[in-house]
Formats: sequence, C-alpha cells, structure tokens
Amino acid sequence: YFAKERGIDLHLYTEDMNDKLLERLSIENDMRRGIERKEFFLVYQPKIDTRSGKTVGAEALIRWNHPTKGMISPAQFIPVAEDTGLIVPLGEWVLSEACRQLKAWEAQGFRPIQVSVNLSSRQFEKKDLISRIRNIISEYRVDPACLQLELTESSVMQTPELSNHTLYQLKKSGLSIALDDFGTGYSSFSYLPHLPLDVLKIDKGFVKDVTVNPDNAAIVTAMIALAHNLGLKVICEGVETKEQLDFLKDRDCDEIQGFYYSRPLPPEEFEKWLVRVINAADTRMA
Ligand code: C2E
Ligand code: MG
Ligand code: MG
Ligand code: MG
Repeated sequence: YFAKERGIDLHLYTEDMNDKLLERLSIENDMRRGIERKEFFLVYQPKIDTRSGKTVGAEALIRWNHPTKGMISPAQFIPVAEDTGLIVPLGEWVLSEACRQLKAWEAQGFRPIQVSVNLSSRQFEKKDLISRIRNIISEYRVDPACLQLELTESSVMQTPELSNHTLYQLKKSGLSIALDDFGTGYSSFSYLPHLPLDVLKIDKGFVKDVTVNPDNAAIVTAMIALAHNLGLKVICEGVETKEQLDFLKDRDCDEIQGFYYSRPLPPEEFEKWLVRVINAADTRMA
C-alpha cells in the first residue's frame, strides 16, 4: 500500500519534473534560435537624480519577443540562460547592443547619459571577462565612463576576494560598478568597505511598502546611511508612488528608478523621454 502510494507520488513527481525539463529545453532551444534571429531587444528605464529631478542615466533591461509565445519576461528566461551558459553570449550581446545604442544617441546629439547593464554571475566568473569588455568598449568607441555594470550582491559575495580583483580591473578600465538588489543576498559587511563599488541599489522589495512598513522604513533608512558613510551613492528601484519618492528624498537617497517616473522604454520612446525632459529642464511631474 505504501509502496504503491509512493509509486504514485513518484510518478506525479517525475511527470512534473518532465514538464519542467521539457519547458526548459524548449526555452533553451528557442533561445539559441532567438539570438540568431534577433528576437531579443533592450528597453531602457530612466534613472532620475533625486535632488535635481534630472535624468542621469538608464538601466538597460533585456526583453524577448518570442515568435509564438509573445513577450517572455527575463524572470523566466534569464535563469535558463544562466543554467545552460547561454547567458554568456546573450550577456555579451546585451553589452554590445547597449554600447551601440549609446553611440547612436551620441550621434543624434543627446548629451551623454550613463547606461547600466546587468552582468550575470556566470559572466562575472569568466576568466576573459575583462578583455571581452575592453574589446566591446573599443569596438564601439564608447566612453567607459558612460557604462555602469550591475552585479548582484549574491554574485559578488560568492567569492569576495576574486570579485574584488575583477572589480578593480573593471574600475581601472573606467567603468562604474553598482551592487544590485542590495539587501536580498547574504552581504558580508566586513567585505563591503573593501569592494570598489560606486553605487548601492536598494532592492524594490524594501521600497514597495517603505511608507507603511516601519521595519522596511528602518532598513531603507539604515541602508542609505550605510552607503553614504562608505562613500557610495544610493539608487532605490521600484519607486511607484509620490509617497515613496518623498520618503526617499527625505532620507537623502541619490537616485530613483521606478514606474513613478517611467517604465522601461524601447529606444524610440526613451529618446522621446529625453527630448521631453530636456525641454522641461527636469522630470518633475505636474
Ligand atoms: P534588476 O536588474 O533588479 O532590474 C530591475 C527590475 O525591476 C526590472 O525588471 C524593472 O522592470 C523592474 N522595475 C523597475 N521599476 C519598477 C517599479 O516601480 N515597480 C516594479 N514592480 N518593478 C519595477 P525586469 O526588466 O523584468 O528584469 C528583472 C530582472 O531580470 C532584473 O532585475 C535582472 O536581474 C534580470 N535582467 C534583466 N535584463 C538583464 C540582462 O540584460 N542581463 C542579465 N544578466 N539579467 C537581466
Ligand atoms: Mg539591475
Ligand atoms: Mg535590482
Ligand atoms: Mg533583480
């Protein structure tokens, strides 16, 4: 009886595993093809200086327009890309595309903005990361000061000594570094001061209910102070309301990214955004 019951469980379990496996396999195959067929594109979410209201940069975020499934979110395909190693060529495409776009905006006469690109831990681990990044930068002739790399807290803290070395080389190449999703990983406060970081990005999980949850209010306030005391800038992501913005302004947060100002925009819409904010002198809303 028990064996049978276990048998049934096992059967259901394997079927479920099979479904998951098949789903991943199909995503993996589709992704390989999608890279060749140029189904991926980047959207850009403005980063706003909290004090001046000016747009200081944008985060580049990948999107996948699947031929039959439509838009697939990075939450679904980035983990598969990381497991299969496809994230390495895909991530390299992201960096190249961001550099190409930076150059295109420069040619269109926009003042320089800073674009940040997410780097997966799988890319970060690669021995030739630095030379590959330097190659892309020189191929597109972008000013490295216009490029920021976002690394998650967990990928940096996996191997802090090695990360420290790689980060120094990236800094030497002129790029700036943001620690993404701060507060969600296992941060070692003893390493934090030694890492050559420029920015801490406070995860949207903390920002979401910062005005109603006193615990998160305390945590965000402390994280901003921590960053400033370490000489780092702070960006809060996931800012959706005026109340959140005001709270963060009060706490002296440096930059804001979130739906309150703008969703991530396709390049043409981001250009319209830039034109609009240039004309308005800032992005303060009526
Ligand atoms: P992330 O790097 O932390 O990016 C911020 C995410 O928050 C983006 O989700 C953005 O659309 C979302 N977001 C921004 N403002 C708001 C807001 O006000 N409310 C809410 N609810 N969400 C907001 P997205 O684009 O779906 O990306 C999810 C994650 O996928 C990213 O988190 C990043 O970890 C990963 N990702 C995206 N593009 C790339 C890429 O090119 N390479 C790598 N390695 N990872 C990427
Ligand atoms: Mg990011
Ligand atoms: Mg983040
Ligand atoms: Mg994230």
